[in-house]
Amino acid sequence: MQGQASWNMPDDIDRIIEDEERAYEIGVKVARRSLAGYGRAHCESCEQPIPPARQKAAPWATRCRDCQEAYEERVRRNSGSTRLGGDE
Ligand SMILES: [Zn+2]
Repeated sequence: MQGQASWNMPDDIDRIIEDEERAYEIGVKVARRSLAGYGRAHCESCEQPIPPARQKAAPWATRCRDCQEAYEERVRRNSGSTRLGGDE
């Protein structure tokens, strides 16, 4: 009694994706404006100067890219280790 009629709403999907893209764009703009000034000229982990390109792309950054990646990796490991039976 049921054919292949479950995939008949591409319009809605398009609209949802469009809305999400716009919301993301606005969110990034607002975040950049409100977070500018939180960032630092020097990495808080290794004290190396943060490149101007990075400061511009992520004005809220308080670490250089390497330290930020290491930090995120550490956070990910810490939060992952609370799971049962990790799959490392
Ligand atoms: Zn660093």
